[in-house]
Amino acid sequence: MAGTKKIILANPRGFCAGVDRAIAIVDKALDKYGAPIYVRHEVVHNKYVVDDLEARGAIFIEDIKDVPENSILIYSAHGVPLSVRMEAAAKNLRMIFDATCPLVNKVHVELKTLHRQGYAIVMIGHKNHPEVEGTMGQVDGNIFLLETESDIATLPLPRDIEKIAVVTQTTLSVDETKSIIEKLKTTFPNLRLPKNEDICYATQNRQDAVKKMATICDLLIVIGSKNSSNSNRLKELAENLGVKSYLIDFASEINEEWLKTTNTVGVTAGASAPEVLVEGVINKLKTYGFNSIETLTTIEEHMVFALPGELRA
Ligand code: SF4
Repeated sequence: MAGTKKIILANPRGFCAGVDRAIAIVDKALDKYGAPIYVRHEVVHNKYVVDDLEARGAIFIEDIKDVPENSILIYSAHGVPLSVRMEAAAKNLRMIFDATCPLVNKVHVELKTLHRQGYAIVMIGHKNHPEVEGTMGQVDGNIFLLETESDIATLPLPRDIEKIAVVTQTTLSVDETKSIIEKLKTTFPNLRLPKNEDICYATQNRQDAVKKMATICDLLIVIGSKNSSNSNRLKELAENLGVKSYLIDFASEINEEWLKTTNTVGVTAGASAPEVLVEGVINKLKTYGFNSIETLTTIEEHMVFALPGELRA
């Protein structure tokens, strides 16, 4: 006999402080200066957010060459390489706002210090991800990308190298990264670890919540876009723990078939997915008989990042 159909809602879920700040920068710049506002790369990796800002006059570009003189430019939350900053500075732009998450910026600062001190740097992250391009692009050479544990053997560095340090992308799998760093330490005994964890609090907290949810849910719906690194990690984590999981942008993607044998469905959202999409998913699930909703709180988040002075109030 089928039991009560229940939704378990993860808390924390959705927007982190860095995403909140980045979206607010574009939003307030549009309000204050009017359209168009140019944004280098999707300000955050979420289709709903990007479409909404685009409709209001934001123009998302990849190449600084596509920004006309005298325009206002905003860098996305993922950060930009120094070459992009230099190219933008050489143009006659009206204003530049930096929506790089302060936690990504923290990694940039640490990386530049290590590079100045002569360290070879290994960056754990995903190739072609804008955050990785931005972070690796803070320095000129002597930095190596590591995507998986098996890549360690291909690093062109002597095992007894004295000055070697590791930094990571902020949105990786906490467990997988820990295991890669342990193997890296065995291979390079002098490896210097980051002063504080590079994986950010929001990534850690959303993964911790999914771990708990996996013990009580039959299925997990992750709301987030396909290009959102932290959202993909949530789906992966649930599946590694034996819980079928789907990553969706919108409630309309929910397939009734997924729910046929499900009594308890978990719902979470990646750090760039707005709450309005969570509401849409809950409403859709209600139409399939999931009328009982419980929130599973694993930690309270209170992080807030300040806006640039010109955009406050
Ligand atoms: S996921 Fe983490 S690093 Fe990325 S914007 Fe949010 S707080 Fe910043």
